[in-house]
Amino acid sequence: MTKNTSNSDLRVVVLGAGMSGILSGIKLLEAGYRNVTIYEKAERVGGTWRENTYPGLTCDVPSHAYTYSFEPNSEWTRQLPPGAEVQDYFESTTRKYKVDELIRFGQEVTRCAFVDGRWHLETASGLRDEADVVIAATGVLHHPRMPDIPGLKSFGGRVLHSARWDHSVPLDGKRIGIVGNGSTGVQLVSALASRAGKLKHFQRTAQWIMPVENPTFTEEQKQAFRDDPALLKRMQNDETYLANVERFTTAVADATSPEIATIEAIVQENLERSVPDPVLREKLRPNYRAACKRLIFSPDYYQAIQHENAELVTEGIETVTHEGVLTRDGTVHELDVLVLASGFHADRFMRPMQITGRDGRHLDDVWAKRPHAYLAIALPEFPNLFMINGPTSPVGNFSLIDVAEKQWGYIAQLLDLLKSGECTEISVKQDALDAYEAARLAAAKNTIFASGCKSWYLDAEGVPASWPWNYARFRDVMAAPDLSAFEQKQRTLAENS
Ligand code: NAP
Repeated sequence: MTKNTSNSDLRVVVLGAGMSGILSGIKLLEAGYRNVTIYEKAERVGGTWRENTYPGLTCDVPSHAYTYSFEPNSEWTRQLPPGAEVQDYFESTTRKYKVDELIRFGQEVTRCAFVDGRWHLETASGLRDEADVVIAATGVLHHPRMPDIPGLKSFGGRVLHSARWDHSVPLDGKRIGIVGNGSTGVQLVSALASRAGKLKHFQRTAQWIMPVENPTFTEEQKQAFRDDPALLKRMQNDETYLANVERFTTAVADATSPEIATIEAIVQENLERSVPDPVLREKLRPNYRAACKRLIFSPDYYQAIQHENAELVTEGIETVTHEGVLTRDGTVHELDVLVLASGFHADRFMRPMQITGRDGRHLDDVWAKRPHAYLAIALPEFPNLFMINGPTSPVGNFSLIDVAEKQWGYIAQLLDLLKSGECTEISVKQDALDAYEAARLAAAKNTIFASGCKSWYLDAEGVPASWPWNYARFRDVMAAPDLSAFEQKQRTLAENS
């Protein structure tokens, strides 16, 4: 068996080559780690941006903010970048930083077990590996959730989940039904209303819509970004955007804050101003507070749903039939294509991987009640295993790249202890996790996410599974680990032999 005898040659395995895994690879190489492998189940990098290719896919975070801080991009074509551009950005960044040389594609890790001081990994194809450190960069939104609608199999047309798009299915002039009006469903309606022969949008729960502009960057602007790195950096650190993030996270963390009242006023005004028909307007008006569900940012959904080809259907779905969708009022909505924009199993994280820590402690048991982790990063008795965008990470309408970079900064300081030989195993103490969880659960009750709606932010017990404080607190906590929360262990030579 390989042993960890030289801490300067730590073997690090990263799980997943999406945004967080690519970041980990870049940062590990930059810090001088040379014994690094990234296992990726698919054949390309990109994670959720690889898997989502539906028409209208757009990042609703401003493009220049949705970039790695060290890799600004002068070539974004729009304020809100199309999904394909985001995917290109991740692919070109992977190549530029030579992270592609670290990646083993087509290798889905199925087991990770901490045995005799090291992580032992196995992939679906039977490959085995060992590592001193595992970074779980497995993402949140990648296990499609199929809606519990009866009859789906009997549909005579094509059924597509938004995250499993089949681009060979014809759409132009077709009768298209879209189930779901989260960020995905709304973008699909905007993209397809004018292309469909008839588009029916099946809405179970209305959504608040934040208006947003999506101008293109002109060739002159892009040239200016290319010519002037300082200007590009200013775009990345745009003060208005950063102030909005502070305001937004303050708003969602406190359902009584003046900041959330401002958001509510904006979305209400958007609805009043954009939808003159009072019947349609009332159908579109949610009966819960703005930002309780993840807020939808859309420049054009209200226009799209008022397109002559489009119809909002608010009657509940009874069943899917061979012809289309039967709603509870007895109407059969005949369709050629049925799109399920029904979201993801957001509570999976690293699973279905089988992960066991010290003494065979199983992750499924640790997470039986709810997925959780100390500061969203570490778990007791799972030494040298760190998560990026893990459970209780901040969620919201801001750049998760920034969240991942801050989490990486924290994890890197723990890795330094391993690299420098301070210890061979580091794991968070149970009482530190318990204290964090108790404070988090108490604070979660005050967030807007807990103000009375259903959403993927809520865990099985209805508690928001998120960072419940504002961005400034996240930034401060991530700046440096409180090492008293961690147990450091030095394996002895006897243990190593
Ligand atoms: P989602 O927010 O979970 O929305 C799922 C939708 O499907 C909801 O409208 C839900 O209705 C509906 N639904 C589920 N089961 C149903 C059923 N049996 N009958 C009728 N309706 C049903 O999923 P999503 O829109 O894919 O978005 C997930 C997340 O992905 C977003 O919140 C966001 O974080 C991310 N995303 C981001 C962007 C971006 O621009 N950055 C774009 C797309 C997605 P109910 O509301 O009634 O449950």
